[in-house]
Amino acid sequence: MTIQPLPVPTRIFGGEGLISYASRHAARNGTSVEEIERALSQTGAMPKTSHRHTRERLQAWRDLGALHHTAFTTPPEIAGAEVIDRPLCLRCTDGADATGRLPRIGWVCARHRRWLGAQQHDIRAAPELVAAERHYRRVLAPRGILVRSPVMQLARECAIVRTGRSILATRSRRGGISNLSLLTYPETVRTARLITNPGFNTRMLQPELRPGERHALCVRATTGFFLEAEDDESWRAAHRITAMFNAIARELEKRASTASPQSTQTSDAALATAWTIWGR
Ligand SMILES: [Zn+2]
Repeated sequence: MTIQPLPVPTRIFGGEGLISYASRHAARNGTSVEEIERALSQTGAMPKTSHRHTRERLQAWRDLGALHHTAFTTPPEIAGAEVIDRPLCLRCTDGADATGRLPRIGWVCARHRRWLGAQQHDIRAAPELVAAERHYRRVLAPRGILVRSPVMQLARECAIVRTGRSILATRSRRGGISNLSLLTYPETVRTARLITNPGFNTRMLQPELRPGERHALCVRATTGFFLEAEDDESWRAAHRITAMFNAIARELEKRASTASPQSTQTSDAALATAWTIWGR
């Protein structure tokens, strides 16, 4: 049965999910999602016991909104990592509350220079955050790094212990914001770029490398990495990164000892395995 679009059209936002769009579209047409779905199931246009994401339900709402067949197709998971459903930029949505999945975008709307964390902030006074976002999209997104991934969490922890207090104070004063994730975003992205850098990974995961040698490599790679960091702070961050690579190296060794000799991986595949172990 063909479902006709609702009379008042509703534009879908990039990455917007079914629940978000359906609520807005129904409200603009003076009704609710439940009312519409009840009517559709009474006429047999939609199964009665439709689960949240059945194919029929997705298609019904595409029809109701006269949407492209690619609407609602952003996957909830990529390579085993969750693509979180999060509030979209309030400037992009003209103030409408909408949520969506944006796997290739970090925590900043570069167009409106807006922080997209739990609380959105205008960050026009902090251009380094927008610059960091460009690095996220150009380098981290193609490496499959998602905003809530373990790699980003570790990078954030390192950035918080390593970013100089005076830098944080200056950024906080300029933007009038005290959110630590926001203030350390440039260092977080920088650390995540290092952690996922293919050359750095190849060095850190050399076969037969001892943990002490691995730590020395890590200290060398991160020396002078953060402005104004105290030595002990640098050491703490390097220690966390080394611990992560030690864990990956142990797992790779375990897998190699049980694998057949023919299954030797190419370096790209080995790298992908390493990141899968840690979680992107
Ligand atoms: Zn925006």
